[in-house]
Amino acid sequence: MSDHANDTGPMLASPRCGAKTRIGGACRAPAVHGKTRCRMHGGAPGSGAPRANRNARKHGLFSRAAIVERREIRALLGEARRMLEGMK
Ligand SMILES: [Zn+2]
Repeated sequence: MSDHANDTGPMLASPRCGAKTRIGGACRAPAVHGKTRCRMHGGAPGSGAPRANRNARKHGLFSRAAIVERREIRALLGEARRMLEGMK
């Protein structure tokens, strides 16, 4: 970082939008504060569903509870595997 008047370091270091562009790369425009997308890719105020909205729910496979459950099952399986390895 320099003490130049036009020090853009902090601005350039801000989180970037990861939306996929038409040529296949990431958007790289600055993400809206507190979001992972820029103002043009769904980060605009008021965009997106409100929290706990279930309008687009189809099967719940990716619900927070289901993801946590799968993570716990995997941890248990890993633990059991390590225990069995220790018995050999
Ligand atoms: Zn973007």
